[in-house]
Amino acid sequence: MYQNKSPRGDSPVSIIGAGIAGAWQALLFAQAGHAVTLHERSDAAMTESTSHWAGGMLAPYCEAEVAEPIISRLGQRSLDIWRRELPDTPFNGSLVVAHARERSDFERFARMTEGHQRLDASGVAQLEPSLDGRFRDALFFPAEGHVEPRRVLPKLHERILAAGGIIKFNSDVSAEDLEGIVIDCRGLSARDGQPELRGVKGEMILIETAEVELSRPVRLIHPRWPLYVIPREDHLFMLGATSIEAEDTGVSVRSALELLGAAYAVHPAFAEARIVEFGSGLRPAFPDNLPRITIDRNKMSVNGLYRHGFLLAPALAELTLAYVKRGQIDNEVMRCA
Ligand SMILES: Cc1cc2nc3c(=O)[nH]c(=O)nc-3n(C[C@H](O)[C@H](O)[C@H](O)COP(=O)(O)OP(=O)(O)OC[C@H]3O[C@@H](n4cnc5c(N)ncnc54)[C@H](O)[C@@H]3O)c2cc1C
Repeated sequence: MYQNKSPRGDSPVSIIGAGIAGAWQALLFAQAGHAVTLHERSDAAMTESTSHWAGGMLAPYCEAEVAEPIISRLGQRSLDIWRRELPDTPFNGSLVVAHARERSDFERFARMTEGHQRLDASGVAQLEPSLDGRFRDALFFPAEGHVEPRRVLPKLHERILAAGGIIKFNSDVSAEDLEGIVIDCRGLSARDGQPELRGVKGEMILIETAEVELSRPVRLIHPRWPLYVIPREDHLFMLGATSIEAEDTGVSVRSALELLGAAYAVHPAFAEARIVEFGSGLRPAFPDNLPRITIDRNKMSVNGLYRHGFLLAPALAELTLAYVKRGQIDNEVMRCA
């Protein structure tokens, strides 16, 4: 970290994009006393945002299997901020399970990650009675949490209003037209100024059944993708997620088979579940798949949240705020234009 000349610490702040990145920026800046206006080009349902399609796992320990250390650092910081700002966020941990043929990948996952406890079959059944007899062991990551994106985004928007911020939906704006400090959180739409951004498709399926009950996300070790089943309210479960270098938003038969197969492998009763929705979102990613805050005087952009938007957004908001208030620069994340 080092100090730099930052924009005035009490200037008005305009944020473009009310997805998870922009929502957290708006909340922390409004709470810090700035006059905040959050612009979102779609309506409050936010169906155009990538955030709408996400799993919402807050899983810095599991993600360490494939992600750089910076994701763990920012992710662990974010967990504290989620706890502080939304204390009812469920922190029930996550479970990682595997079938016998994926044994060596399971052991590799255990070696590559920290912050877990190894459970035997009875430990699994104690945590998740629905999984009694299904797995002979599992990894339990007790410090992890999860949120339901379609419920938590409106909650964050409410908190922004309560902190004195303004939210303008159906407001398609451009940074050049805005005064004061501008924070661009447009996700993949920011490609006009950041052409190296790309979309990484993530497909998901929503199913409904009362036959299985889970209290936390369950990840199933899979040779290609980390597949998971996340419990939602009203007997819904989200099955996610593929990771494909493509920018169409269709869901392929192959992906659907793999996602549904993962659910079936976690519990055969999922075979009787009702399919509620197929969908996909494009994760905004830079070539290194790492988040980036770009600073050009009083214009900043927060982007490249890739597969970690819910995990990283609070910590990234804290960093931009520290820059504006104190000129503090985080060398790993920030780039000055
Ligand atoms: C299937 C799937 C599962 C995922 N699971 C997880 C997970 O479990 N945990 C996790 O941490 N992450 C997860 N992610 C990743 C996460 O969803 C993304 O990292 C995150 O949503 C990116 O957020 P964002 O705010 O940068 O972009 P977005 O959510 O796309 O928000 C950008 C917003 O900007 C608005 N906008 C664009 N242009 C303008 C303009 N000119 N004026 C006004 N508004 C504008 C858009 O309408 C949009 O609402 C998942 C992603 C997918 C696809």
